[in-house]
Amino acid sequence: MNKLCVSICAVVPFAFVLSANARAASEKAAAAPAPAPAKPATPSPVGAIPAAGGTTATWWGHAAFVITTPGGATIAIDPWLDNPSAPKIDHPKALDAILVTHGHFDHVGNAAELAKKTGAKLITSYELASLIGAQNSEGMNMGGTIMVKDATIHVVEALHSGGYGQDKSGPKYSGPALGFVIEIAKGPTIYHAGDTDVFSGMSLIAERYHPTIALLPIGGHFTMDPAGAALAAKMLKVKTVVPMHFGTFPALAGTPDELRAALKKEKVTAKVLELKPGETQTLTLK
Ligand SMILES: [Zn+2]
Repeated sequence: MNKLCVSICAVVPFAFVLSANARAASEKAAAAPAPAPAKPATPSPVGAIPAAGGTTATWWGHAAFVITTPGGATIAIDPWLDNPSAPKIDHPKALDAILVTHGHFDHVGNAAELAKKTGAKLITSYELASLIGAQNSEGMNMGGTIMVKDATIHVVEALHSGGYGQDKSGPKYSGPALGFVIEIAKGPTIYHAGDTDVFSGMSLIAERYHPTIALLPIGGHFTMDPAGAALAAKMLKVKTVVPMHFGTFPALAGTPDELRAALKKEKVTAKVLELKPGETQTLTLK
């Protein structure tokens, strides 16, 4: 897997962008001679439809992603789909699994209602699974592995706290904070770090699971900042870093530009894949 290389070949934001692109394309086609065919190696332009059967990732802002796999799995991670940066689009109607890294509200988000609506399996720590109380849930812990169609999901450590709810007595203990490594058959291996500072065990994650893409928090304050994320990318040996958990609130001040600068300083060649909330990227293997 470590020899595999990920390339980004398409971006699909909102339906209106697609329809606008389609309209613009048809107007262009009517007004001008047919364009020369694109070179096969050239990445598809913004607005292209992702290749069928690929792996896609949609960012919903903050730490929320929806991943689809070639084998037909649709997996939501930390689905706070009503966060301040979230796109104003319909919530997913069909999900196979919902992964929640820890009990803080900005990560549990809409997990309970999505689990109820879709029947998806809620996968999180043993303690948090019982607190959320979804009918179809799988309480797990670090070291555990579970299959969802063609995705093999490994539960790994995170350096963070865990607490659920905000009643008068304070948050309830919700187990440890977790990360997930999602190994996709015929696709990339994606590491979602959850909320965490950089920690030396990331080297072990690299040695054991060979992630090719890392979704890393960069905002600082509650998690690592861009400098920490650059060190994380170095240890993880990933080809691509997708920054997350920044800009949602003023306290989460780290930026993708700072991440790029920090990677350069650390002489890390991983590229930064900066998504806009609502964008879908197709991730394919070269
Ligand atoms: Zn947190």
